[in-house]
Amino acid sequence: MSQEIEHVQCLIIGSGPAGYTAAIYASRADLKPVLYTGMEAGGQLTQTTEVDNFPGYPNGVTGPEMMEDLRKQAERFGTDIRFGYVSSVDFSSLPHKVVVDEVKTITADTVIISTGATAKWLGLPSEQQYNGFGVSACAVCDGFFFKGQDVAIVGAGDTAAEEATYLAKLCKKVYMLVRRDEFRASKAMVHRVLNTANIEVIYNTEAKEVLGNGKNVTGLRTINNQTGEETDLEVEGFFVAIGHKPNTEIFKGWLEMDETGYLKTIPGTTKTNVEGVFACGDVQDHYYRQAVTAAGSGCMAALDAERYLAAKEDEVKVSI
Ligand code: NDP
Repeated sequence: MSQEIEHVQCLIIGSGPAGYTAAIYASRADLKPVLYTGMEAGGQLTQTTEVDNFPGYPNGVTGPEMMEDLRKQAERFGTDIRFGYVSSVDFSSLPHKVVVDEVKTITADTVIISTGATAKWLGLPSEQQYNGFGVSACAVCDGFFFKGQDVAIVGAGDTAAEEATYLAKLCKKVYMLVRRDEFRASKAMVHRVLNTANIEVIYNTEAKEVLGNGKNVTGLRTINNQTGEETDLEVEGFFVAIGHKPNTEIFKGWLEMDETGYLKTIPGTTKTNVEGVFACGDVQDHYYRQAVTAAGSGCMAALDAERYLAAKEDEVKVSI
């Protein structure tokens, strides 16, 4: 028995700020979008506690609350939000084909990809235990909570260098753990780190355990990977900045990506190399990675999709 295939005008994949904002705009433009949340409905922000830098919340908001607000706003205009994950796609011809939960096929005139990126973690049980209670993967989001305090950061790439200098402006002292005897970051960034008085770089050193009182972080146990010597640092915050992984596995072979797997878009737009397929949020941005920039690009993706459909309609009218 053949399975009935559902057709939609606009399919949105992912439910972070980019996906929900795309949904708000697409539903208001009457594209009747269907949004699949993915396995982590609400995206990375559901893993954070306070969000103080999203405009419109003068008293701050928790990540999960904000995502709930965005979901409700998208639903208010009729977005069909479904729990499920996209397991494969076929962008070889129009309409685009998308398989959900490995069983259901949907065809779509436009696809908006907002599958985000996932922060890499060290994999320590204590890191997981104190995630959101002193452990963070985003200095710009959470640095403010450690104003005037001592913190540690692990990583030696451009992100870690940038976040360490950001933290140094807010915190009393920043310990920076570099696992080799050199940085991966660009020379200019390393120069900035080494010339910041309150950053202490500790080479050949890794994080062994996040120390805490059961509620909050109180320190970090480090280990020198040359000598095996362990040292406890007294810190209130621990930032993990060892890179992100864009969630683009299912688009390999279909969409152009950079060497680290981020989707490529035509500058100034959300258009990918495939017509009718748009990308927004962290899946195409390894640079800003903020909720508000993701939301902004979600708006752009919906407008790009709407204009693409309108242009297609005009083409049909002209050819009649
Ligand atoms: P990178 O992959 O460049 O760097 C990751 C860093 O984390 C490396 O130094 C790596 O160490 C370290 N690391 C990985 N795993 C561990 C671990 N288990 N323990 C300790 N350290 C670990 O990621 P970034 O996020 O820094 O950068 C991603 C891309 O974005 C890069 O191309 C970067 O240039 C770019 N970027 C550019 C910026 C700018 O231009 N302003 C700002 C931010 C990012 P090791 O070196 O030993 O492998």
